[in-house]
Amino acid sequence: MPLSEFALIERYFRTCGAQRADVRLGVGDDAALLQLPVGSELVAATDTLVAGVHFPLGSPPASIGHRALAVNLSDLAAMGARPAWALLALTLPESQEAWLEEFAAGLGRLARAQEVALVGGDTTRGPLCVSVTLLGYVPAGQALRRAGGRAGDVLFVSGTPGDAAAGLALEQGRLQAPAATIAYLRERFLLPKPRMALGERLRSHASACIDVSDGLLADAGKLAAASGTGVELSYEAVPLSAPLLAAVGDARAREFALTGGDDYELCFAVHAESVPTLLTQLPPERWGYARIGVLRAAAGAVAVRDGTVMEFSHSGYQHFV
Ligand code: ADP
Ligand code: MG
Repeated sequence: MPLSEFALIERYFRTCGAQRADVRLGVGDDAALLQLPVGSELVAATDTLVAGVHFPLGSPPASIGHRALAVNLSDLAAMGARPAWALLALTLPESQEAWLEEFAAGLGRLARAQEVALVGGDTTRGPLCVSVTLLGYVPAGQALRRAGGRAGDVLFVSGTPGDAAAGLALEQGRLQAPAATIAYLRERFLLPKPRMALGERLRSHASACIDVSDGLLADAGKLAAASGTGVELSYEAVPLSAPLLAAVGDARAREFALTGGDDYELCFAVHAESVPTLLTQLPPERWGYARIGVLRAAAGAVAVRDGTVMEFSHSGYQHFV
């Protein structure tokens, strides 16, 4: 017999996330009551994952639970915020207990690791769709934004972009790769690790920040546009993982990195005069980020190789002539 909505919430979601003392009232009443730390601002983000659009049909349920929270965590990381409370709006075809068990396990593992309490939500019947609202906080006035960069700022990215896009292509059977690289690349899509600690630290260093979800070139372009600048990325400087290089070779790896999505890394700008302090206080080899370009006065986002502007499209890239 399928679980009632009430029993389902009790079994899978009441104790799914972290326990937090600032949750005055969590799952079970009409709304949650949350205690915001004195002197802080509430930071709120929401993101919806639709089956077949934001993840392949038949994705592992634990990955869907993980990603539904991870995409929101990444938005808070980009604001320099600390996550605290989540709400889950779940639309399910039917209450399949094995699916729910794994989904809640994937969501719960990441929530507990990041000390996020699940404080409410909504459960409805329909085509599979998962929407998470994440709340957190920053010291008042200190949030990072996309705006704030200026021409001459140095641009950095965390991690190794492109891995997740290759992982998704593998999931969808659009890419073949050597066996040794597959597990790593798939995991980079299925279980992204948002850069929470780096985001909070960047409050003291970055002039602007965005999380990379739609492709590095596109998202760097959004940061630049919000800052009233353009951006020039160095094609050669984009950091690539060894498995991605082994899987697709240098040229395609750079294309995945610049145009692929689902990285959930941080792209951030730092005023040129603040770069030495950044490099000293957050050593790149320890914090996992690399210099990839500069903000410039001319609008637009370009990747430059040997002084030549590259143009990318879904079917590949070509030189401007
Ligand atoms: P209401 O009808 O007042 O909106 P519901 O019956 O929908 O309340 O939900 C009861 C309680 O369970 C509420 O506290 C709600 O936030 C919580 N809840 C419902 N669905 C979920 C879910 N998928 N995950 C976490 N909490 C949920
Ligand atoms: Mg209600």
